[in-house]
Amino acid sequence: MSANTTRTHALQHATRTGIRKIDRPTDSLGKPLPVSDFFGSMTFGLDQMKDKLTRDTFNALMAMVQKGKRLEKAAADEIAGVVKDWANANGVTHFCHWFQPMTGLTAEKHDAFISTKTSDLGQTLVMEKFSGSALLQSEPDASSFPSGGMRTTFEARGYTAWDSGSPLFIIENANGRTLCIPSAFVSYNGIALDHKTPLLRSMQALSKEATRFLKLLGDVDVTQVSVTLGVEQEYFLIDRNYYSLRPDLVMTGRTLLGQSSTRHQQFEDHYFGSIPNRVLAFMQELEQEMYKLGVPIKTRHNEVAPSQFEVAPVFEDVNVATDHNCLLMDMMRRIATQHGFVCLIHEKPFSGVNGSGKHCNWSLSTNKGDNLLEPGKTPHQNLRFLAVLASVLKTLHDHSPVIRSGIASPGNDHRLGANEAPPAIISAFLGETLSHILDRIEKNEVIQDSATEAVINLNVSNLSVVAKDNTDRNRTSPFAFTGNKFEFRAVGASANVAFPIAILNAAAADAFKLMSDRLERKLPTAKNRDDAVMDLIREVVKETKSIRFEGNNYGDSWKKEAKSRGLLELKNMSEALTPLDDSKRTAFLFETGVLTADELKARHNVLLERYIKQIDLEVSTLAELVDTYVISSCERELKARASLLQSLEEAKSEGGASKRVSDRLQGLEKHYGDLLDHRASLEAGLTKMRAEHDEPKKAKICAETLMPIMEQTRTVCDAIESAVSDEFWSLPKYREMLFLN
Ligand code: ADP
Ligand code: MG
Repeated sequence: MSANTTRTHALQHATRTGIRKIDRPTDSLGKPLPVSDFFGSMTFGLDQMKDKLTRDTFNALMAMVQKGKRLEKAAADEIAGVVKDWANANGVTHFCHWFQPMTGLTAEKHDAFISTKTSDLGQTLVMEKFSGSALLQSEPDASSFPSGGMRTTFEARGYTAWDSGSPLFIIENANGRTLCIPSAFVSYNGIALDHKTPLLRSMQALSKEATRFLKLLGDVDVTQVSVTLGVEQEYFLIDRNYYSLRPDLVMTGRTLLGQSSTRHQQFEDHYFGSIPNRVLAFMQELEQEMYKLGVPIKTRHNEVAPSQFEVAPVFEDVNVATDHNCLLMDMMRRIATQHGFVCLIHEKPFSGVNGSGKHCNWSLSTNKGDNLLEPGKTPHQNLRFLAVLASVLKTLHDHSPVIRSGIASPGNDHRLGANEAPPAIISAFLGETLSHILDRIEKNEVIQDSATEAVINLNVSNLSVVAKDNTDRNRTSPFAFTGNKFEFRAVGASANVAFPIAILNAAAADAFKLMSDRLERKLPTAKNRDDAVMDLIREVVKETKSIRFEGNNYGDSWKKEAKSRGLLELKNMSEALTPLDDSKRTAFLFETGVLTADELKARHNVLLERYIKQIDLEVSTLAELVDTYVISSCERELKARASLLQSLEEAKSEGGASKRVSDRLQGLEKHYGDLLDHRASLEAGLTKMRAEHDEPKKAKICAETLMPIMEQTRTVCDAIESAVSDEFWSLPKYREMLFLN
């Protein structure tokens, strides 16, 4: 008997897809150019503008970038003129404000650079035009984006405003080029309607409080502290031929059913393995395009699960890194299509193998270029390092519930706490050397004559090895110190990092504020400044101890221990959003000016709404799959077994075959009955959820009723998949999607 023809065709197409060759940028002799020669060639940022603008206009632009000063019309027009010339010289026909609404995706509305006038004889003439006001702002129809219920204030419409700190860039496709203007999206009364605006505010808040703290530590000439972010992006690539035959992937981004293949990741042979040719060709094109867009992609490798990969850039300032990650995800999806792949950026596209995260490497850097999470060469730098480290522990300790809310997404629910992903409990890992140092500080062992001397005596040499102490890396921690930065691993692959990182930055700003207040109170009575600082570090190390965990975060014993320490395990999105309802927990967001209460409420509503819609979509899609695929496959198999049984009985066959066939028939009948029962439960659950009008209650039904029914349904579907004849199963199987490209 032949295999299922639909799947066989997909398989044939997938395995015969050729490798796409691209043109590499070359010199006049046809020799490939080094990356540095074309890096950023499709971007237009402050460096390029400086060469082309008059001094006054450039200064006005810098005043806008650095201090938020308004740009006069004449200056804006001059900048727009320069932008237009550059864009036209590069064959660009359209421009758009490119922004990050609360959908989690990016948005753009294109306008041609043309403007019309009427000739003396009444004919319409066209010319290329781009005004300062078109560069500065545009007005998308704000009511079509999620507003989270900010309707009344919202009806005042929204506008997008150029974020001049992030370079303009050109997106190219087969038949043209478009200039993208990175923008924030706000309402006319200044309410943030996007993810970018709170991020920009959080950078300011953190800079202000961290600078104040550093000044108290004696670093009087630090004027600014910025957040650096390096985002490691995990993803799956599967062949488009399979994807198009999987309604669950097309509709929801993940497989809602699918029997695990016998081979999965048990051989641990995919991670860092040799990259398949067709995948490498995709990566090379992606990198080339990202280089042109000024995104410094550095690393590519196979990830743990079959068909899973990672791409990582060199870190940048957080707002640029965020834009670049959004751009990267967009380009990954586009370029994958050109290679006959689909790029899945869902947190858990396949059950039973690793999901995808987005490790956010986070650190703080002064305007003098010092990394504040890097132990230094002098005792002072090391004391400062310990003080900043204590502040980060305070950040997590005080605000872990809201930080957990920041990473909540329907996809991340499947990943956190499952298959080698951080659990839904937030804790920090420091590594052996650092933990040891903090323990000694806590026990007062390092204080001898003075703090400075103590740091010299013990910690300088130890601290200098911290940076290299990566051997005992704890891969299970959601927030791990990795030598000169923290790696926030609990963020989901598909997230716009702007939201979780804005929350983290705000929490850090709040922690630095508390640290400064406490240090200020200590200074007048302390023997000297270093002693006061060491004293504060000791107190904070003590009081934040519960957030530090060096053990295995995947183990069940950690769940128990975390509970006894008072740490929350917020298992699913319905639970993870509850801290946002608690004004005591969220006060730091308002006090730091990162979000207003209305803006937070709006985000909370959008998150709830998206969660409910996503689960509704998943349940509906699963029900459809059951009805139109699984039940009919099962019935065909039942029919085949029943008719075989009938033939055997008619033939009065001896030797027990009919008994065995009868057992096999009954086994499948049991699954069939269970499936019909679960199918009815899906329907009932969905009806119950839809009938509820309170959103948090709806979310609770999603998490506590619908998700478990989906799981149970899936289990039966997967049992049926492994029982029915290959010929009767038309959905591409895991072994095909994950292993055969
Ligand atoms: P690791 O081995 O810890 O993963 P990598 O050097 O591969 O370290 O870095 C991983 C990511 O962390 C990269 O994106 C890198 O640019 C980023 N990174 C390195 N230093 C910093 C820093 N100071 N701030 C933010 N990100 C950083
Ligand atoms: Mg890393």
